[in-house]
Amino acid sequence: MPIYEYKCAHCNHIFEEFQKSGETGANLKCPACGATAPEKMFSSFAASGLGHTASGSGSSSGHSCGSGGFG
Ligand SMILES: [Zn+2]
Repeated sequence: MPIYEYKCAHCNHIFEEFQKSGETGANLKCPACGATAPEKMFSSFAASGLGHTASGSGSSSGHSCGSGGFG
């Protein structure tokens, strides 16, 4: 029996429920607050990390011309 994850839209409580094939889960109730029609979450989903952005920022510090004053 497949287990689906649901998230309550009222209190954001995440819970798992046994759901038959074809059921929408609209009749489910949040065990925390009792709100109906929780959001169905896609569990067991391979979330591949996105490519890291190459950040190349060279900080060029301008050389301040030293004013050499003799005397
Ligand atoms: Zn809730």
